[in-house]
Amino acid sequence: MLPVDLPDAVRDALLAPLVDHHCHGVRRDDLSRAQFELLIGESRSPAPPGTTHFDTPLGAAIRRWCAPVLDLEPHVAPAVYLGRRQELGAGEVNRRLLQASGVVAFLVDTGLEAPDLLSAAEMGRHGGAAADEIVRLEQVEQDIADSAAVAVDYMDSLGEELVARAARAVGLKSIIAYRCGLDFDPSRPSRGSVIAAANRRLSDPRERLVDPILLRHLLWTAVDVARDRALPIQFHTGYGDADLDMSRADPAQMTGFIRALQPLGIPVVLLHCYPFHRQAAYLASVFPHVYVDVGLTLTHTAAGSARILDELLELVPFHKQLFSSDCYGLAECCHLGAVYFRLGMAGALGRRVESGEWSAADAARVAHMAGSGNARRVYRL
Ligand SMILES: [Zn+2]
Repeated sequence: MLPVDLPDAVRDALLAPLVDHHCHGVRRDDLSRAQFELLIGESRSPAPPGTTHFDTPLGAAIRRWCAPVLDLEPHVAPAVYLGRRQELGAGEVNRRLLQASGVVAFLVDTGLEAPDLLSAAEMGRHGGAAADEIVRLEQVEQDIADSAAVAVDYMDSLGEELVARAARAVGLKSIIAYRCGLDFDPSRPSRGSVIAAANRRLSDPRERLVDPILLRHLLWTAVDVARDRALPIQFHTGYGDADLDMSRADPAQMTGFIRALQPLGIPVVLLHCYPFHRQAAYLASVFPHVYVDVGLTLTHTAAGSARILDELLELVPFHKQLFSSDCYGLAECCHLGAVYFRLGMAGALGRRVESGEWSAADAARVAHMAGSGNARRVYRL
């Protein structure tokens, strides 16, 4: 898979086990073609009549890199691939693809938990890997909104529940980018404004939380927990599904909040980032507590992903870059995340060694840091 002229030390470092610091469960059931296609890409809608989601960078990548893991030739037709998937069954397909990724630790965002998705522990078992949990803040808030009777209960229970959930987790995650955008007021909201907003919220708790005051309250409550337990907070930024307003997902828009967190020493991990990965690399370069990962961008841009990794590497400090697959639903995406991370890094590092800019030992060290070392340090694995 990797270029033949890559120095052995760099090759070994790139093929070493990875820590996947952001992923979700994959489907445990056998999928129809329609179900499988809905999980290719972030659109969550069927392809227009007469077309297929296999005609995307990710669709082509599945046929290229996942087919051989299922004992097929590269580039087989979608129907052949899906037929083989059915024949092997979801359990075997998941085991093969998760293990082919070479991931030894999954940090699973359990906020999307559903009966048909593997749990964090099951991801570990199927992948022959360790597994830990990342707590999604907005999901905890929804649980509390569903059960709290009055605003004061809401505030107390939210803090207590976050403490309890964080005790079993290695990190927290915010999807505030989806709910009100990253250009939120970075200050902690006043108690009076939170109580008023909570009363409004509790009059219709099933609604998705979009109130910026309560979202900021949730985030600052999480900051208190993260500081006490020395946990990183992940933020969705950039590329996501159609629920996202991309123009409000640029991580540079949350510079004020990042600055406010600096004295607290809480690691801020920017996920996905694309097409704002250059802004993210800049933030990681100027703030000591900011980390960056382009995650699912690599899977979804596939053949184009090496250029994106190259752009990230223009500025990102090597001790700030992480790896994730961000697989959701399809184990294929876990394998492909690892494939394109290794391929992209091989190209970027190989060129630096070849030009004499770096030694092979430097390149091997950077590969190790990005692939697992940085995640082990940040999440204290
Ligand atoms: Zn994700």
